[in-house]
Amino acid sequence: MKICDILAIERMNSRIRFNKPYFTGKEIDYVLQAVEAGKISGDGGFTKKCHEFFEKQYGFPKVFLTTSCTDALEMCAILLKIQPGDEVIMPSFTFVSTPNAFVLRGAGIVFADSESRTPNVDPLHVEALITPKTRAIVVVHYAGIACEMDVILSIAQKYRLSVVEDAAQAIDSRYKEKPLGSLGDLAAFSFHESKNVISGEGGMLVVNETGLTSRAEIIWEKGTNRAAFFRGESDKYTWQDVGSSFLPSDVIAAILYAQLENLQQIQNRRKAIWNAYRDALSPLEEKGSIKLPEIPAYATNNAHMFYILCSSANDRTRLIEHMKQDNIQAIFHYLPLHKSPFYRDQYRGSDLPNCERYSECLLRLPLYYELSDLDVDRIANSIRSFFG
Ligand SMILES: *Cc1c(COP(=O)(O)O)cnc(C)c1O
Repeated sequence: MKICDILAIERMNSRIRFNKPYFTGKEIDYVLQAVEAGKISGDGGFTKKCHEFFEKQYGFPKVFLTTSCTDALEMCAILLKIQPGDEVIMPSFTFVSTPNAFVLRGAGIVFADSESRTPNVDPLHVEALITPKTRAIVVVHYAGIACEMDVILSIAQKYRLSVVEDAAQAIDSRYKEKPLGSLGDLAAFSFHESKNVISGEGGMLVVNETGLTSRAEIIWEKGTNRAAFFRGESDKYTWQDVGSSFLPSDVIAAILYAQLENLQQIQNRRKAIWNAYRDALSPLEEKGSIKLPEIPAYATNNAHMFYILCSSANDRTRLIEHMKQDNIQAIFHYLPLHKSPFYRDQYRGSDLPNCERYSECLLRLPLYYELSDLDVDRIANSIRSFFG
């Protein structure tokens, strides 16, 4: 056998992981620049560059880098003055940080079901759950696909509720031409290593409701007016409000900025992979073996995730095992939060059948910048061979 054949076979059998963080090559340069500038605490030069990028690229009125999306969500709960006795409505099919941020302020969480055609929250169910105690609706743009925001926003307006977008997965995606993250009063993004654009751990708060901007800056800086003081707008630097250390080191911002400069390149490759999966797997959908993600006409696709829906939990378990035998890592996603060990005893609502179906039947396929066309073929072949 020739060496190139051996290498080809090795590649064909090598393990395909679910995610592999991509580095553009500029990260270390920028970290060195931050170190050489002699300032690696928060709100430094690279933080400002990242802020400018987002404000320019998406027209966000005001953004604040945070150490995580979890932190950005916690800032949202503080900014909205959520307190014990308040209720916050959100989908059960989401990450724990979405409710945790509000639970930390003493709120009761009211879990809504997903839509039948997407894992996003069902606006009609949201409206049915509103009580006099409801203060806010938190939507999650699952897989970067927009929720039906016109309906959510009109419900919020009718009952005078705040809207928070958990846009952790939603960078560079849109609802009717409007960037996700620009629609709610507040929005939270993630740059965790599992997202499209990364800084290891990292996140960002977007403040669209301009009445909340100056308080957001104070909460961000541990409850002080430090940022205004350093701009020369105040002659004292004092304790003004509650707050915490929500701002990341400029080293983190340096890594993020290297990624943002390459955002379009990253997005183009991810979208090509997503489309290749769709093309390869749509015959299986036509046969009725699986369902592919549905992208409503009002939404764009930022290729954060490619998932398939199996027809039963049993099918999915067997498919995961089959792919594992082929050295491919495919993984399921959220367990229903209303049934979680932490919340099930407090949950007073009804069954959430769509949430449970996504929880049992959804399977996420590997999707990252360096996934090759050959890898996608191998993954699609493995799924095809399972269904025979
Ligand atoms: C990733 C994610 C989070 C948490 O993001 P971190 O930056 O890790 O805190 C929150 N919500 C959703 C929907 C996510 O996908």
